[in-house]
Amino acid sequence: MSKAPVTVIGLGPMGARMAAVFLENGRPTTVWNRTASKAAPLAERGATLAATPADALAASELIVISQTDYKAMYDSLGGETHALKGRVLANLSSGSPDELRRAGEWASGHGAELLTGGIMVPPPAIGTPGSYVFYSGHEATLDRHRETLRELGDPTFVGMDAGLSMLYYQAQLYLFWSTLTAYMHGLALLGTAGVSAERFHPFVIRSMATLAEDGPAGYVRAITDDVVSGRSRGDDNTLLMQAIGADHIVEASREAGLDTEGPAALRDLFWRAVDRGHGDEGLSSVIEVIRAPAR
Ligand code: NDP
Repeated sequence: MSKAPVTVIGLGPMGARMAAVFLENGRPTTVWNRTASKAAPLAERGATLAATPADALAASELIVISQTDYKAMYDSLGGETHALKGRVLANLSSGSPDELRRAGEWASGHGAELLTGGIMVPPPAIGTPGSYVFYSGHEATLDRHRETLRELGDPTFVGMDAGLSMLYYQAQLYLFWSTLTAYMHGLALLGTAGVSAERFHPFVIRSMATLAEDGPAGYVRAITDDVVSGRSRGDDNTLLMQAIGADHIVEASREAGLDTEGPAALRDLFWRAVDRGHGDEGLSSVIEVIRAPAR
């Protein structure tokens, strides 16, 4: 049985790789991009080039969109809304949850359905076993197109609220960016003392393993348990002790002539939690300030 066709709109590094993966899987694939020249390598591999966004919409029921943001979707399809009826837009672009919710209403207002998605891998990993995508919208719609979307990565349904896929995506991205930025800060700090990145690297791997360990010694596990139980214990290491330690990271960075804003933001967060009376509790009490920044 022949495979269901798919259209890909947006051929940046992500969209181009998605279209290539569909083609590698033998799926009839139509592509459209604002800058048409980016479609040429895909046409050589068998993709059909749509001349207009309306042609792209007409070619398949499932339209996978991968663009810089949601504004790009309106710029591309806003003049072609007559062609949206009956289409399923799986938009894997970045945006804010409210933007995604508004986009869901916009799509249904034109007789289309929006599945929002947050794809958790960079271009080369699309379609490989570790790839996965958070989706929200109607699960039955996702199920109808699961076979096609599975070719990009494991489709992981997270709920009906159109904004939810992006919340998962952003929660993961914040973890990713803040961890790697902290690593770079560490490299810069040690670099001022002549310590090479290669020398520091194995220690970071060791810390990451302890953070991720899914047993009693694991820090992510411990924070999870505290947040679930609603109790933050500072028996072995109080938040006050850690806020003072955070002061010292800012001071060390200043002495080394580095940018202090990242460590200072962390330090300030810790001290706001101490000032609210959490000094004798544990690190997990910081979530109270994150949840309610101003009283
Ligand atoms: P970009 O974010 O740079 O997106 C480029 C695509 O968006 C191009 O097709 C570009 O068209 C199109 N575009 C931008 N603005 C408009 C507009 N106003 N009208 C029409 N088309 C527009 O590159 P990526 O491919 O890397 O990312 C795509 C999405 O995937 C982003 O939302 C990103 O956050 C997300 N993402 C990216 C990852 C990555 O590692 N790259 C990983 C996970 C998610 P044109 O070619 O004409 O400029």
